Amino acid sequence: MKDSNGIVGNVFQIQRWSVHDGDGVRSTVFLKGCPLRCKWCANPESWKPHPEIFYFRDRCTDCAQCSLVCNHQAISKDEGVPHYFDREKCCCCGDCCEACPNGAKKKIGSLMRVEEVIKILKRDSIFYRESNGGVTFSGGEPFAQTEFLRELVLACKNFAIDTAIETSGYFEWEEAEDIIKELDTVFIDIKHMDERIHKRLTGVSNRKILENVLRISQNHHDVIIRVPLIRGVNDDRNNIEQMCQFLQENTRILGVELLPYHSLGHSKMDALDREGLEIFNTPDAEQVEHIKKIIAKYKIQNIDFK
Ligand code: SF4
Ligand code: SF4
Ligand code: SF4
Repeated sequence: MKDSNGIVGNVFQIQRWSVHDGDGVRSTVFLKGCPLRCKWCANPESWKPHPEIFYFRDRCTDCAQCSLVCNHQAISKDEGVPHYFDREKCCCCGDCCEACPNGAKKKIGSLMRVEEVIKILKRDSIFYRESNGGVTFSGGEPFAQTEFLRELVLACKNFAIDTAIETSGYFEWEEAEDIIKELDTVFIDIKHMDERIHKRLTGVSNRKILENVLRISQNHHDVIIRVPLIRGVNDDRNNIEQMCQFLQENTRILGVELLPYHSLGHSKMDALDREGLEIFNTPDAEQVEHIKKIIAKYKIQNIDFK
């Protein structure tokens, strides 16, 4: 995205001191926008490319402070509805979030320039260096903002900051190839090997993703496959063996990281007045160990950043 002064991107969080998104101490930059709709998504606030507003009803005391600052008549006190928030009228300016004394509203996503993001990231340069850490780009799907991402990665390179990416793998190779070659580490998801099941669970086919896994592994040395592990969905022997066979025969990845499911996304969906997630179960420790043994049988390394 560009304005009159150049490229801007929509960033919804910069999390400092991340230790699960690659080696060492890292800052994780979460970019907005995702073409998938995974039924277990932990970050549904990332889906839309533009800013949004979280409204946490359980924190709202109906004090009406927010309605006083809204110039778009998006908040009203109708009879029978103490605090009515009309998202159709809301332009996501965020003024009500500032005005709320109870933290019941929060703006998700802000337009930022590359220099602004880099200024924040550079504050922790010394910790990146001392811990062999760096910066991880996440989302959403970070390749949904290709231009902005490219500038961010190049700027990090200029300051000798290590870069990693967490991607769903659902992107156009031609648009991303040059960025991938600049990145130090690539984390790419394989959610399910069966195309029909993948489409039902995420809204998209897995073909493009598996093609991109092959291309990335041919072009990059440090590739880690991530599997969001969901009990009864993708943790069966057949699916895991199919994945291992595919990886063993076609790629030269560093290894596989299993990420057991958690249900964090549900409360966020409520705060966005949205539906679409399902409730799943987390595999127990015994099942995770069992899957790790299957992976090891294929001479694929189990990777764990915890
Ligand atoms: S974000 Fe802005 S437009 Fe939307 S409800 Fe709040 S004050 Fe009104
Ligand atoms: S200002 Fe906050 S607590 Fe008060 S009505 Fe608005 S959202 Fe609720
Ligand atoms: S790819 Fe990631 S961010 Fe996008 S819907 Fe799936 S889990 Fe959520």
